[in-house]
Amino acid sequence: MNFELTDAQRAVQETVREFAEREIRPIAHLYDEKSEFPWEIVNKMAPLGLLGMIFPEEYGGAGMDYVSYALALEEIARHDGGVALTVASHNSLCSNHIYLAGSEEQKRKYLVPLARGEKLGAWGLTEPGSGSDAASLQTAAAWKGDRWILNGTKNFITQGTVASVYVIMAITDRNRGKQGISAFILEKGTPGFRPGRKEVKLGVRCSDTAQLLMEDAEIPPENLLGEVHHGFLDTLKILDGGRIGIAAMAVGLGRGALEESVKYSKERQQFGQPISRFQAIQWKLADMATEIEAARLLTLRAAAMKDRSLPMTKESAMAKLFASEVGMRACTQAIQIHGGYGYLRDFPVERYFRDVKLTEIGEGTSEIQRIIIARQLLGHE
Ligand SMILES: Cc1cc2nc3c(=O)[nH]c(=O)nc-3n(C[C@H](O)[C@H](O)[C@H](O)COP(=O)(O)OP(=O)(O)OC[C@H]3O[C@@H](n4cnc5c(N)ncnc54)[C@H](O)[C@@H]3O)c2cc1C
Repeated sequence: MNFELTDAQRAVQETVREFAEREIRPIAHLYDEKSEFPWEIVNKMAPLGLLGMIFPEEYGGAGMDYVSYALALEEIARHDGGVALTVASHNSLCSNHIYLAGSEEQKRKYLVPLARGEKLGAWGLTEPGSGSDAASLQTAAAWKGDRWILNGTKNFITQGTVASVYVIMAITDRNRGKQGISAFILEKGTPGFRPGRKEVKLGVRCSDTAQLLMEDAEIPPENLLGEVHHGFLDTLKILDGGRIGIAAMAVGLGRGALEESVKYSKERQQFGQPISRFQAIQWKLADMATEIEAARLLTLRAAAMKDRSLPMTKESAMAKLFASEVGMRACTQAIQIHGGYGYLRDFPVERYFRDVKLTEIGEGTSEIQRIIIARQLLGHE
């Protein structure tokens, strides 16, 4: 067993660390305050390959492995959960679905500009009536003559109003249950397809979250993604990888909260000494650091398994479950260590606390991760 990163992985880690410290940290709070999509940051990430990290160079990507991807997301989330969510959903949901299931023509037409960061992608599974029970979605695609006609509403879609390419899951045969769902590629501006309400959120506020509305949206046959009726089965594979990204995001936010807490506890004086001298504070810091380290190891192990094409449904669910709960605990303790100042917008831990909650919800709640893990243990369907 080797815990050392390769030279290439360390180089990615250092490059993204420097980038995030220089370009994200100083302005993250401004985008949070305004709930505004951080185009300025996103446009600078494209030339670094951060919007096509996990795709081969022939498709416009940076050709990095999944371990590097997790390391990069940790470095970004350390300063901004919203930017990390943007990168994660663009890479591992929309673009990855096209990479996994797309035809050569679809990869050339859609994946290349997505991976180069010339366009942003969004991925629509969730609906008003179907969240955890994703297979109960109602958006339907009917074949009419020479095209598909899509009708339905998607909820909570990351990059909902800022994307140019969308992957949308829809029923193509109501009688086949999960095996009657297909994936489609929709372009911005398709008649009958438009973003709906942009959501106002607790955290990850610079990330764009919106409804998507399809009212007789006409989709040409060549925009069916993957095999007909195979969309939900592909979705499960996409989410296995996506969860590693959310786990890395939780590790990054937890680490950001820990680093801010270490710094603050050495500066803040009470009872004539820095609060870091109190054992109660030291124990909080020690627990945070230990749990974050364990969460990182679980995350990188799942990523390394993905790099070796090993089955990792259980491992990615464990990483996401554990890391998101660790991240939440670390951010809660960070507020406590900052006392009243942690409750103010003046310190970044207040933002990390709001951002990290998403990691316990998105791409399957903690309850759903436990169900996935238990199913794997018990051999249930
Ligand atoms: C900021 C943000 C970004 C998102 N981005 C996207 C995106 O880009 N694309 C996309 O498709 N979706 C996206 N989502 C949706 C997200 O994946 C869902 O919110 C999530 O899967 C939970 O679904 P729900 O909100 O409908 O909650 P529900 O499914 O209604 O769950 C409510 C509660 O019931 C619990 N619960 C449900 N079923 C069970 C069960 N069987 N056993 C035990 N407990 C259960 C849940 O764990 C939860 O605590 C995003 C959500 C947010 C908040």
